Amino acid sequence: MSQESIESRFAPILAERENAALTRRRPLATSAQTPEMQINGLQVVNFSSNDYLGLANHPKLKQALQSVDSLSYGSGAAHLVTGHHLEHHLLEDEIADWLGCERALLFSTGYMANLAVQQTLMQKGDWILADKLNHASLIDGARFSDADLKRYPHNDMQALEKRLKQAQADNRQCLIVTDGVFSMDGDFAPLDEIQALAKTYQAWLFVDDAHGFGAVGPHGQGTFEHFGLTPDDNTILMGTFGKAFGTSGAFVVGSEILIETLIQLARPYIYTTASSPINAKVTREALRLVQDADDARHQLQRHIQHFRDGAAQIGLTLWPSESAIQPIMIGDSQRALDWSDALKQQGYWVGAIRPPTVPKNTARLRVTLSASHTSEQIDGLLAALAQCADAFPSQNS
Ligand code: PMP
Repeated sequence: MSQESIESRFAPILAERENAALTRRRPLATSAQTPEMQINGLQVVNFSSNDYLGLANHPKLKQALQSVDSLSYGSGAAHLVTGHHLEHHLLEDEIADWLGCERALLFSTGYMANLAVQQTLMQKGDWILADKLNHASLIDGARFSDADLKRYPHNDMQALEKRLKQAQADNRQCLIVTDGVFSMDGDFAPLDEIQALAKTYQAWLFVDDAHGFGAVGPHGQGTFEHFGLTPDDNTILMGTFGKAFGTSGAFVVGSEILIETLIQLARPYIYTTASSPINAKVTREALRLVQDADDARHQLQRHIQHFRDGAAQIGLTLWPSESAIQPIMIGDSQRALDWSDALKQQGYWVGAIRPPTVPKNTARLRVTLSASHTSEQIDGLLAALAQCADAFPSQNS
């Protein structure tokens, strides 16, 4: 058997990606995470971050950092060993109280939370019914479990119900899995309809609301609050701290039995070092800011409307998104890069999102808005987009 080298296996793959304009680059930030930043040596207004409320560089979070003398930076061990600190414990209680759930559990990242929930709850013979546009970490989580993964077309409730009926006839336990706010499209899952279907067919429901918590709903309590719904005992919610909260990490909330099950059985929870207690302390402060951020959420809503009105006037193809994620459809990957590069030259950082992150031929510019942007910055972006529309006329080809 001939042995191949890493180079002989991967150099052609990388070259193919480069030819198809699919090479991923890591922009290098050399300033703090704020709307005006230095990225790759350019001074730009950043329209690509998920810092929806502008908390990542908030003075109160920095102040919280000044009173951490009694805390070590490292947790030193996994939660079940000696890494579970009072700060983690308090943050869990405060998140559960805020969302009116029995209990919360912290994870170091949302990615791990999505692996943990699906791997732990779903057994051989069960079905995971997942929206086709779910975040990559949800898809990986489903694959990581012993259940069968069945994907339904985006937000297609008839297709979902069809699957639920089949599962009922076959006597299979189902977990419906969906983003609350879809990360690349910005639209909401119809959680009212999904919750009703879950109840009718006795399916469990798992919602990843990474882009909802903090930013969506009158009090920032996410997509469930947006729809005026209350989670029941067979609902599991996941949120992350790396977006509207401005820190990092994630949480799962639900019933007492759900959280105890995860603590006992979830490998991505058990076999990993607990996140820094300092991060937990700063995130507790971020939670207070999120709870108090009604003005920022209103500002964000005004910015969303302002951007959508302006983009429609230029004739850009927008998505039906009410959230801070506002994709502009381009189609071809190279064209999306051309737009993105031209915007950078004009001082606006907007990422080009290409396959496989999004389906083939749906490369797009993903504009994300933050309450900390100014109206003038949004006007500036719109003017730069108008110039791109002139420079690259057939936007949808
Ligand atoms: N779910 C969604 C919808 C996300 O957008 C992300 C992050 N991009 C994650 C989960 C993963 O969260 P984390 O970054 O905390 O791993």
